[in-house]
Amino acid sequence: MSENKKPEKIVGVKGMNDILPAEAPLWELLENTTESVLKSYGYLKIVTPILEETGLFARAIGAVTDIVEKEMYSFTDSMNGDLLTLRPEGTAGTVRAVLEHNLAYDGPKRLWYKGPMFRHERPQRGRYRQFFQFGVEAIGFTGPDIDCELIMLCRRLWDDLGLQNIRLELNSIGDAAERLRHRADLIAYFEANSGTLDAEATRRLHTNPLRILDTKNPAMQDLVNNAPKLLDYLDGESQAHFDGVKRILDHNNVPYTVNPRLVRGIDYYNRTVFEFITDELGAQGTVCAGGRYDPLIEMFGGKPTPAVGFAMGMERLVELMKSGGESAAPSQCDVYMVHQGEAAQMQAFVLAERIRDAGLDVVLHCAAASGAGSFKTQMKKADASGAAFAVILGDDEIANHVAAVKAMRAGAEGQQQATVPFDDVVDYLVEQIVGGHDHDHDHVHYHH
Ligand code: ATP
Ligand code: MG
Repeated sequence: MSENKKPEKIVGVKGMNDILPAEAPLWELLENTTESVLKSYGYLKIVTPILEETGLFARAIGAVTDIVEKEMYSFTDSMNGDLLTLRPEGTAGTVRAVLEHNLAYDGPKRLWYKGPMFRHERPQRGRYRQFFQFGVEAIGFTGPDIDCELIMLCRRLWDDLGLQNIRLELNSIGDAAERLRHRADLIAYFEANSGTLDAEATRRLHTNPLRILDTKNPAMQDLVNNAPKLLDYLDGESQAHFDGVKRILDHNNVPYTVNPRLVRGIDYYNRTVFEFITDELGAQGTVCAGGRYDPLIEMFGGKPTPAVGFAMGMERLVELMKSGGESAAPSQCDVYMVHQGEAAQMQAFVLAERIRDAGLDVVLHCAAASGAGSFKTQMKKADASGAAFAVILGDDEIANHVAAVKAMRAGAEGQQQATVPFDDVVDYLVEQIVGGHDHDHDHVHYHH
């Protein structure tokens, strides 16, 4: 073995991010806030596997969509030849589980999920190959009321997160028959203007012409703006549903813009579609997208069951929280244990466990490569930990059966230090930190 040859550096998979401890508290804040909003609307959590059979997504999402055509991580299980896919979105798996366990047959269900999704896209700001979504699926509800509930739930979440400047775009893409009539006219329109279509649009012309409306190509904007609008093809029922959505939103002062070009890239959607968009994140400004997917459950072999849902991109929301100045700096613990000498170390272990028994978070100083560390080094670590108190044990303290308890974040009175008998340390800390309240330790260590 050559001694001076360093092993090659291993790096993560392109487009897949690490969330480091410095950023984790922001994620935690997003997750906690979202979960409490979901709870306040009565939504229940569902967890499904990250792997599903490839056929599930091909069937649910549609063969001629971006996702199924080119974005899925699919592979053959070398153990048994199964064709599997890392989930690109959460709806297919959730609906699969709902059907498999007969969840929706005893009445409608309000469900939510969160977790990583995988799409083989070109990595760029706001677009990754592994990304996290929170999603909601309301299954078994027919009316415009639930569509509005989802939209208002999102609005509450943006408020609770302190996010401004997120606007709502709304559209109805009607039902299959309406889309078919519109599609024929749309294809005829694009054919009559084929000179203006780019390569991608030409390719999509006969497979997924609706998606051409989504184009970001500046040269095609006039063309798509003047294209036949699906909204003009809605029949009585779809129109009434859309009117109902707008009526409830208006009544609740929810601002929105009807964008007749808003379509979803996935086949299973019908009627209401919506997106929450911000201009603060550049090109990848959609933070949440959703809509109704009444046909999906029947497509899966279930009884016809209407449904509506949305998914939001957590990376983009975290970016927004950051740009809004949110910086929840983590504090690691309530108490940092500083000790010098073997007897002090033994006592520090015992005290640390007792303080944790009382519900406080404790970091016990442990030896690093550089050694156990002087008092001074240890106090620096205590300071950096963000702890409210350092508990200090040395030979003198051990001899006198006391600990020095130092307030690390003392106010104007200056840094206070108290000498506290071993047996009183826990009570002293609880009194100082929790102030005698019943302590179920829900306090979060964010210091700004
Ligand atoms: P786009 O048109 O930007 O590709 P999409 O229609 O593929 O979006 P959805 O499938 O509706 O996106 O996903 C819902 C949300 O998940 C998006 O609005 C976005 O916030 C987030 N999202 C989707 N794809 C990615 C990705 N590759 N990286 C990060 N977030 C993503
Ligand atoms: Mg996409």
